[in-house]
Amino acid sequence: MTLPLSVKFIFIDNLEHCVQEGKTIQYEELIPFHGKQLWWETTLNPVYNEVGHIYRIIGTSKNITEQKEILAELTAAKEHAIESDRLKSAFLANISHEIRTPMNGILGFSALLKEADLSGEEQTEYVGLIEQSGQRMLNLINDLIDISRIEAGETKLQIEPTPVNKVLRDLHAFFMPAISKKKLQLHCTLGLPDTESIIETDSGKLTQILTNLIQNALKFTRTGGIDFGYTRQDTTLEFYVTDSGIGIPDEMLQKIFDRFRQVDNTLTRNHEGSGLGLSITKAYVAMLGGKLSVQSREGTGSTFTFTLPYNPQNSALTTQHSEDCILIVDDDDVSTLLLNKTFKGENITLLSAENGMEAVELVQHHPEINLVLMDLQMPIMNGYEATKLIKQQHPDLPIIAQSAYSSKEEKEKAREAGCNSFITKPINKTELLNLITQLQPPLTP
Ligand code: ADP
Repeated sequence: MTLPLSVKFIFIDNLEHCVQEGKTIQYEELIPFHGKQLWWETTLNPVYNEVGHIYRIIGTSKNITEQKEILAELTAAKEHAIESDRLKSAFLANISHEIRTPMNGILGFSALLKEADLSGEEQTEYVGLIEQSGQRMLNLINDLIDISRIEAGETKLQIEPTPVNKVLRDLHAFFMPAISKKKLQLHCTLGLPDTESIIETDSGKLTQILTNLIQNALKFTRTGGIDFGYTRQDTTLEFYVTDSGIGIPDEMLQKIFDRFRQVDNTLTRNHEGSGLGLSITKAYVAMLGGKLSVQSREGTGSTFTFTLPYNPQNSALTTQHSEDCILIVDDDDVSTLLLNKTFKGENITLLSAENGMEAVELVQHHPEINLVLMDLQMPIMNGYEATKLIKQQHPDLPIIAQSAYSSKEEKEKAREAGCNSFITKPINKTELLNLITQLQPPLTP
């Protein structure tokens, strides 16, 4: 083997060094060998004669490439472990902060509400703050449940014809109040006509992906606005959410997709959040067959983009329902009241029943009912029983089970009883309206 000149020079240098110093010299170097770079460790040992002069040098070289590689792997693993540990500690501190802050709001303002001399305005303000804190708490719990399901590989997809334009329009309406409050602009661009915008995907997950991205855009934008929408590129739809917010430093662009990762991980940061949103979003996009990416400039804004396969459906789902009639079955007055308020202004007639028995009777006498929202745990007759009875008479009438406990068993039991879908309380308006669009057959020709 002919050694490169540089290797020879290093050897001569070390040899001279060994003679001058009169002691063992050890050095490592990378030597090209059959197209590969190998690490060698060379030891030079001076040998002395009886009068104390060096009369020869014994040199040995050994290939230490494997040890070097193992060492590099171990170092990387150690750094990774230290980083994970640091993230875990930051996460625990953040989670406890994220729980305590809304709890403080809920308990603090509930106590204040009990005071006798509050003005109507103050009461409304306190109730609003309690609601806001409750929502923040719920978001955190939902994120934790979602990430645990993803990690356990238990996330189920519900692929069905999804009217993309409707999903986007609903999101636009949903975010408008928050956008106006921050004096920002919100634009939504639909890339296809309604009839061509129906694709086979999981509409709940699509809504969640866009909600997370728009929520982040809203959170990190102080002036300007947010644009979202999609364009069609052959066999894919390319969705985007662009903001004119604070932007993301280059070195963080990939890291923000990691669990618990935030650009600002300190407790004194200005923005609430668990650091889970983007990892959940990324996982959902991948499950739906797409890819999520980001482009950003600090101080200018960010654009999150994701793709979904375009597999159009020709369906009558875009038919506008103008005379929907929904039966709400729930023994809890507060839940019924909440649903009534939720549907206010939606051009929907609402009927209500307090238990399963009443529901069965109402369905018999009101053929105009075209959807039932069924609570499961109720006195006199529970939701499972009522669903079975209603489905015997009206197999095509869609029934959505609603419950506060969303265990897998309960969902399965609801499906077995005949429920077409399931929604968890507290009910999210956008999610429910999406479900209704997907489940209802066209009402009147
Ligand atoms: P969270 O928002 O709960 O902190 P995410 O996983 O959704 O968690 O986001 C992680 C981090 O990515 C955020 O904390 C923020 O630092 C950064 N980030 C996400 N979206 C944006 C955005 N639109 N503009 C600026 N920074 C963003």
